[in-house]
Amino acid sequence: MDKDLQTTPYTYDLKQAATANRLLGLWRMMSRFRLAYVGATVSQGIAAVAKTATFLWLRYFVDNILVREDAARLLPWVALGFVGLAAVEGSFTYLSGRLAAFTAEGVARRLRNYLFDHIQRLSFAYHSRTPTGELISRATSDVDAIRRFFSEQAIGVGRIILLFVVNFVALLRLDVGLAFFSIIIVPLIVVVSVFFFRRISNAYEAFQEQEAKLSTTLQENLSGVRVVKAFARQSYERDKFEADNREKYVRGMRLLMNHALFWPVSDIVCGVQMVAGFGLAAWMAIQGQITPGMYVQYAGLVVWLIWPMRNLGRLIVQTSTGLVSYGRVMEVIREDRELLDAGSAPIQGDVRGELVFENVCFEYEDKNEVLKDISFSVKPGEAVALLGPTGSGKTTLVNLLPRFYDYTGGRILLDGIELKEYPRKYLRSQIGIVEQEAFLFSRTIRENISYGVERKVTQEEIEAAARAAAIHDVIMSFPEGYDTLVGEKGVTLSGGQKQRLAIARTLLKDPRILILDDSTSAVDTETEAEIRAALERLMEGRTTFIIAHRIQSVMQADQIIVLDNGRIVQHGTHEELLADARDGKPGIYRQIYDIQMLIETELQKELSGAEEETQAVNA
Ligand code: ADP
Repeated sequence: MDKDLQTTPYTYDLKQAATANRLLGLWRMMSRFRLAYVGATVSQGIAAVAKTATFLWLRYFVDNILVREDAARLLPWVALGFVGLAAVEGSFTYLSGRLAAFTAEGVARRLRNYLFDHIQRLSFAYHSRTPTGELISRATSDVDAIRRFFSEQAIGVGRIILLFVVNFVALLRLDVGLAFFSIIIVPLIVVVSVFFFRRISNAYEAFQEQEAKLSTTLQENLSGVRVVKAFARQSYERDKFEADNREKYVRGMRLLMNHALFWPVSDIVCGVQMVAGFGLAAWMAIQGQITPGMYVQYAGLVVWLIWPMRNLGRLIVQTSTGLVSYGRVMEVIREDRELLDAGSAPIQGDVRGELVFENVCFEYEDKNEVLKDISFSVKPGEAVALLGPTGSGKTTLVNLLPRFYDYTGGRILLDGIELKEYPRKYLRSQIGIVEQEAFLFSRTIRENISYGVERKVTQEEIEAAARAAAIHDVIMSFPEGYDTLVGEKGVTLSGGQKQRLAIARTLLKDPRILILDDSTSAVDTETEAEIRAALERLMEGRTTFIIAHRIQSVMQADQIIVLDNGRIVQHGTHEELLADARDGKPGIYRQIYDIQMLIETELQKELSGAEEETQAVNA
């Protein structure tokens, strides 16, 4: 059964549990666990009947046995009856608990697995507009509220209804008038509960929203801890967190105040009812309308009739949290996944890597037109450098290639076929990306290098890639070599080392098209030379797009595209662009070139000056 459940999340589509009727949705969410749920409820019913039977037995004992002369002889049988009923009640309560736990934990586990898988399949656009903390809180705290709903409230409903029905029927048989008198208060309880249900639903929703906000703040603060420290903004961040936390406190208090108000109100209502029932029954016993045994039975039964009434209110109110969390989780589940396999392009082996951009336009969901009328073509194996100020659209342009986003106008042809015809999965297997800030997982170096390669890779292949990326020697200097853990529990790698690991990873993947974010400016000269050599090996024979920040890294490119505000403003080789001038004024490229050259020579001068000084001092 366990194995079966593990495969369920991927074959079972929870989207069908997304309905406007939240209770119906939760019922659908329980698919495959309904039998266990029904079993749990039935077990509770049997336990409830056993409890009620105890009071019938008690009455029988008082009215029919105690009065007999041979009562003493019968006592062991009476005791056995009580023990037997207690045993039945106990074992079915236990069984019900187990089945309820199985249902609740099973549904929650499947939901968590499903959510994890679903979230990583949502589009780039979704992730860029949704704060991470928001997703974390839905996948943890909201799933937990749903788990509680199944383990407590969903089972509780059955228990309450059964207890109520069984005890009410027993009371009816005792005395019809007394029975109805004992439930006179029910409508009032329902009204009070519904009133609090609304209030608590709203308060809980507000609380969960704030919880998500707080986890976003925390998560951002942790991943941006370097920036916080570098700018010495700890106090500012603390104050911001404190403000958010205070709001959570206020909302949490409001939620608890509502709970705190509800319990005594419902307890008082139920208490009054119970005392009134006791009083009437006592009066009837005094009048001789019922026997003492019947009074004892009534006293026992009415407690177990009031109990479900009291808990019905509690349940209605607690159910609100389950429903709110259901709604929050379903908001994520309703989102469409990115289709990975759809596409009609004939796929045979690798692409050649010829790309043609024809009047490509792109706007983000917020109608922000970021690329306008982009046209150029690249032959297989050519290198294209993209240059331009921040926000000019370089990243957006390369993000169109793996179809992280689809262009909104014009077309892009890869080997003569429109990009939109290629399945995303295939396309992404053909494209390698070396990010500006290489992301590594907290796994071993070996796992990081072979990440994303589906075929089985040998140690030789991994080493060859590491050698080509000039990182093999660094890896061998760690005691555990390729089995060294990266990250928090393992070694800390420098920016340059991380980047070379990312290059090794891409070399092993061996894609036909390459996207590089050039950021070698952050590393020292020796490493820069190594990285540059590694990059050159990586680029060999692959169509390459380089997002360049410095002239040095674009000079070798076959074509240079200068973007400004989403348009191509200059296009050509290094020499062509240097000579390019309009109205006697040099183009942007020339201007950037001149500035960077100036900085470079100044820097050189200072460096050599400093060197001479040290030499003079040493001499
Ligand atoms: P570059 O890489 O040249 O710095 P980008 O491609 O990152 O430029 O950004 C181009 C423009 O698109 C900028 O104005 C930026 O604000 C906008 N932009 C980037 N990403 C998004 C997004 N996910 N949603 C909306 N606008 C975006």
